[in-house]
Amino acid sequence: LADGSSFDLKAHIRAVPDFPKPGILFYDICTLLRDGPAFNAAIKMLADLVRPYRPTTLAGIESRGFVLAAPLALELGLGFILLRKPRKLPGATIGYNYALEYGTDRLEIQADAVKKGDRVVLLDDLLATGGTMAAGIRLLKEAGAEVPLAAAMIELTFLNGRARLDAPFEALAAYD
Ligand code: AMP
Repeated sequence: LADGSSFDLKAHIRAVPDFPKPGILFYDICTLLRDGPAFNAAIKMLADLVRPYRPTTLAGIESRGFVLAAPLALELGLGFILLRKPRKLPGATIGYNYALEYGTDRLEIQADAVKKGDRVVLLDDLLATGGTMAAGIRLLKEAGAEVPLAAAMIELTFLNGRARLDAPFEALAAYD
């Protein structure tokens, strides 16, 4: 288990029907996070997934992306950039508005977060339609980063979100 190799990730993720609204099957990673050995094994698996892409920095999307990207950055000995909801980050920021099922949302990055030549791997907990991850990739590139990989713990393959991404994508587990 120390290398995460024979670990059943899906056994630790709870599927909650009709949350946050009717018809949505919500994949809840809180059950995994509150189990110490499971959380640890998941981070080790993500480390094995991400390492070959040789990132210089990681980025995470507020807020469940932070929960994965920060310990992963420690595990890999890398720094960590926060992509946040509007008006949370001080100083000059770059923002990007993107469409949701109903309405729009916005992500922001600090304008000076990326250094020249940075290879930034972007993390979120789950890829659904891909709108959120696509916005994050776009922001990182606008800030000057190379994005060798976007990664998530879970991919909802039936939504084909990865087709919207302007970067390679990998996930630890897929649901269809
Ligand atoms: P999307 O932009 O459609 O790819 O949605 C991705 C974002 O919404 C991620 O940050 C997820 O945390 C969250 N999300 C979307 N659908 C689900 C789902 N079925 N279960 C859990 N989280 C979801």
